Amino acid sequence: MSPLFINFAYIVSGALFILGLKMLSSPATARRGNLLSAVGMFVAVVVTMMAQGLDYKWIILGMVIGTVVGVVAAIKVEMTSMPEMVALFNGFGGISSLLLAWAEYHQHPEMSGFIALVAFLSTFIGGVTFTGSMVAFGKLSGKITQKAVIFKGQHIINAAILAVALGAAALFCMNPASGFGYTLFIVIVLVALGFGVTSTIPIGGADMPVVISLLNSYSGLAACAAGFVISNTILIVAGALVGASGIILTKIMCKAMNRSLSNVLFSGFGTTTAAAGGGDGPQGEVRPATAEDVYYILEAADSVVFVPGYGLAVAQAQHVVKELGDLLEANDTEVSYAIHPVAGRMPGHMNVLLAEANVPYDQLVEMDDINPRMDTVDVCVVIGANDVVNPAALDDESSPIYGMPIIETHRANTVIVLKRSMNPGFAGIQNALFFAENARMYFGDAKASIQDLVAEFKGD
Ligand code: NDP
Repeated sequence: MSPLFINFAYIVSGALFILGLKMLSSPATARRGNLLSAVGMFVAVVVTMMAQGLDYKWIILGMVIGTVVGVVAAIKVEMTSMPEMVALFNGFGGISSLLLAWAEYHQHPEMSGFIALVAFLSTFIGGVTFTGSMVAFGKLSGKITQKAVIFKGQHIINAAILAVALGAAALFCMNPASGFGYTLFIVIVLVALGFGVTSTIPIGGADMPVVISLLNSYSGLAACAAGFVISNTILIVAGALVGASGIILTKIMCKAMNRSLSNVLFSGFGTTTAAAGGGDGPQGEVRPATAEDVYYILEAADSVVFVPGYGLAVAQAQHVVKELGDLLEANDTEVSYAIHPVAGRMPGHMNVLLAEANVPYDQLVEMDDINPRMDTVDVCVVIGANDVVNPAALDDESSPIYGMPIIETHRANTVIVLKRSMNPGFAGIQNALFFAENARMYFGDAKASIQDLVAEFKGD
């Protein structure tokens, strides 16, 4: 196959990746964007395989096993478990880069200093990504403790491990083909695998989605380095795109939670505050409401804004929310859905759920667009959201979420909060909104509660 054709095909797939990524930024185009990037990857894989004259039987066997595992996993995985699945995928990406660099070194130990350097980067970052992702998967799925595992001298041990890796890398790059080169390479592999564990276990399970986004970026960087090792242009491009988009997403998540990355990586936040249980939060009188009460409030409203959160995902209430939205619209009520960037447990969580229920995209409103007009909203219906509507983020400097932007539902005429109890959310803190004058608590599982409202509207 001519190099001209191969490079042309790679440019086509690179363009498809970039276009796909761009389309992922809007819910209206995200599905097509995903498909487009997948087509780009298909083109890249086919052209690479044809260009190399490979022994196809092993590759086809690998593809068949991978496809079966991937399809089964994609069908079976619950939406709330998606971060775990992404963690596994990142880990597999990392180990692939490590093995690729290893195979290349095994075959061609006489490599230049530059190739040795990128082989080190691919191996080290890939190894860290693999074990780091496995720890993240274990924590999120509850297979290992969710708590931040902190021990004395942890930072010193991590710094020492890094120093060993860098020392081994320097010696390795100077003369990879020397008799000692292979030993150094094995040391790098072991240190990378160990560092992935020691750098991830001190992070609380609840912070894992941010870490997974970071590990996603690492897996891209490892792939990019692997692309240099085997001189494959599209692997370099794809790896760089994953690396860059992963770090941008990490930054967006940290900003939306008003946390610095170092705070996420080193503070054990999700564990300590959640363990506190939020018992010291605001106190006062809570005004519970029945389905009938809520029905009368909604029935008389000119505008209703739904504010979904993690509880919507747990209850799988998206379809009944859409049904309620339709009934309200039929009642001449203006309906919209306000989306907080970190509502739920993964970026885009609420968008995906609402898209699944066919909520029209033009009814989705971003936090920055809804807040300025919140004073004119008749009723906000908070469905399983807690931290993302907690006014403490605006006015309580002692709160762990102080500074985090929120959807300011407390400024609406009336707020109805759907949740099962007074338990706190992710941040483990109580919420003053629930005690506000204009708030009514409608207790129960979100899906069952909304089904009751739908029944009220239908006069069942
Ligand atoms: P929260 O975790 O703050 O609150 C969720 C609420 O849902 C709980 O208070 C719970 O109350 C309620 N709930 C749970 N199950 C049900 C159910 N079946 N029916 C009704 N209610 C239910 O969620 P938010 O979406 O408001 O905030 C997300 C939090 O997660 C933020 O702190 C964010 O920083 C963090 N985070 C988000 C990430 C992301 O990418 N989206 C990543 C990492 C962290 P009760 O038990 O009483 O029912």
